[in-house]
Amino acid sequence: MSLLTDEQCTRHLRRADGVARRAMAMGRHPFGALLLAPDGETVLAEQGNIDTVNHAESTLARHAAANYPGAYLAQCTLVTTFEPCAMCAGSIYWAGIGRVVYGAEETALLALTGSHPENPTLSLPCREVFARGQRAVEVIGPVPAVEAEMLATHQGFWEARGAA
Ligand SMILES: [Zn+2]
Repeated sequence: MSLLTDEQCTRHLRRADGVARRAMAMGRHPFGALLLAPDGETVLAEQGNIDTVNHAESTLARHAAANYPGAYLAQCTLVTTFEPCAMCAGSIYWAGIGRVVYGAEETALLALTGSHPENPTLSLPCREVFARGQRAVEVIGPVPAVEAEMLATHQGFWEARGAA
């Protein structure tokens, strides 16, 4: 698994944010993720949010596990606009993906969504989930250079969605 430069992290996160905006245009929650090949450059797949049990990252992790061998995925990186929730971190772990890059903290999202019925956030940092596993998953995030951009995509979205 090659090292990722700051430039690569920010560029891939901006592309993931484009995927999030595409999901939003389809009436879904604005979250997006990418799967990077071991070179840290080639994008193997993109995935936006589908629904509450098919988040961008968990869906992408299942797709990855269905299409690539574990030894290869151990060298791959999943890039996602926001810190993966416990469900997604679990799926990433079981898919055997070696690294996660996320743009903004889950806690920053919680501050935006509050107790929104469509996003009852699980307050469990992904590093804590990975720490309980038998296999290491490297985590890079949040990335301050793009965190505000990731949050900007959500600005106004949850209010328009009608918070309880
Ligand atoms: Zn999730």
